[in-house]
Amino acid sequence: MADKKLVWFRNDLRTGDHHALYQACQDSAGGGVLAVAAITPIQWMKQDEAKCRIQFWMANLDKLSLELSALNIPLKIIRVASNDEIPSVLLSFSESHGVGELYFNNEYPGYEQTRDEAVANLFEQKGIRTRRFDSELVLPPGSVLNQQGSPYKVFTPYSRAWRQQFISMLPQPLPKPKIQPLINITSDEVPRESGYSSQLGANWIPVLWPAGSDAAHERLQMFVIDSSADYGRQRDFPAQPKTSSLSPYLSQGVISTRQCLAAMQAYSGETDWLDNQWVTELIWREFYRHLLVLFPEMNQWKPFKPDVENRLNWQCDEALFKAWCEGETGFAIVDAGMKQLLETGWMHNRVRMITASFLTKLLRQDWRLGARFFMRHLIDGDFASNLGGWQWSASVGADAAPYFRIFNPMRQAERFDKTGEYCAQWIPTLVGLNSIKQHDPLFSSAFQRPSRVIDYAHERKQSLDQYTQADRKP
Ligand code: FAD
Repeated sequence: MADKKLVWFRNDLRTGDHHALYQACQDSAGGGVLAVAAITPIQWMKQDEAKCRIQFWMANLDKLSLELSALNIPLKIIRVASNDEIPSVLLSFSESHGVGELYFNNEYPGYEQTRDEAVANLFEQKGIRTRRFDSELVLPPGSVLNQQGSPYKVFTPYSRAWRQQFISMLPQPLPKPKIQPLINITSDEVPRESGYSSQLGANWIPVLWPAGSDAAHERLQMFVIDSSADYGRQRDFPAQPKTSSLSPYLSQGVISTRQCLAAMQAYSGETDWLDNQWVTELIWREFYRHLLVLFPEMNQWKPFKPDVENRLNWQCDEALFKAWCEGETGFAIVDAGMKQLLETGWMHNRVRMITASFLTKLLRQDWRLGARFFMRHLIDGDFASNLGGWQWSASVGADAAPYFRIFNPMRQAERFDKTGEYCAQWIPTLVGLNSIKQHDPLFSSAFQRPSRVIDYAHERKQSLDQYTQADRKP
């Protein structure tokens, strides 16, 4: 009988539009297909994975196991402490299960690339072929280059070239693979306890983020039908979020970007759906991965523009950082955002920009502190997008916010949370106010808010002076 094909699932917890799975099933020739996933608690800790993200990952893995068993593909679970152990454990697993070929989809951050190289090398040495696919991105890193064949460093020309390439290729999602012949191996039960997420089953996750690709596709359909047309105008108001809230699913590959684009196209027909602002956001996601692969030093938490950063003096003020982390800065929209993050593992994009700008440009704390804090709390924590978002906010990233763009938290609240509804949702002591007045210091003391940790005008000037000097120096 032919050797078995083994598909290794990581952050690609779906059966549709899954290139590694699809190809393994095509190649199996009756030998059978087997799936595996690794639980790696020490590695998760090392990579600042949020516990809620791991809880969600485990819940999605459980759903994936059901999807796979409907295809007669058993899912086995291996438990290792960290990535270092994966090559040898995966090899002995493969040898004991008669695996002839290993299939997986590429992941792009440095830790994952190192892990995958180690696995591929060991497997090749032992005569087991590894087959790798670019399933996560619509256009893989390195495939969108300028006319000189160099990588784009600026988003707008990248997105233009991305769209042109998309039109010329029209990549479509792959279907689910066909049902496979039964093999005599039983699936492992996905454990309820991962050894990392101590509060597995915390009650808000299944409510806000029901697990599995059916839930993700339902959310996608609702968004495309109800909100996509008006997304460009509505996306910035956190009280009634009109964004898709698909990021936790995209970050674990429960749904793919191609599937999102296909849904947009199917709904919009022949219109200019590709120019929709929502598509632009999906292209940002691809851009940040493209940067990570082409400028790998970013994996060491290095800024894209070290020359700017080298001339900035980050203040190391633990008390200020703590106030920011806990949502106790006295600036209502900043505090509301941080409370939303702590309570739900998610934060609206507009508020991510406000809180990140506040930490880096007004509290003048190192962006890495904020980025790691976000990773430790976000259910959609994603190394490339998070790094990109933080470097953008601190003006040290590729195509970053200009240094003089310092979000004024009062002004931002006035524009995007005029009635104060969002702030009051996360800071209960503000309930009862129905206007932006709650951001006024007079009102903030009346409503039991912490006093402001900084003088906004003073810190803004300090920050501007520093960035201006950094910009001028050769
Ligand atoms: P929608 O507005 O519906 O957008 C659709 C999808 O496009 C998102 O799900 C996401 O996958 C992608 N996307 C949207 N905006 C961006 C963006 N600016 N950059 C990259 N991709 C984007 N996104 C993450 O997925 N994980 C992170 O860890 C993360 N950290 C961030 C940190 C900071 C400081 C900032 C400013 C942004 C960060 N983002 C991150 C990007 C963005 O805030 C979230 O993707 C978005 O809020 C998710 O909500 P949504 O699914 O409703 O997005």
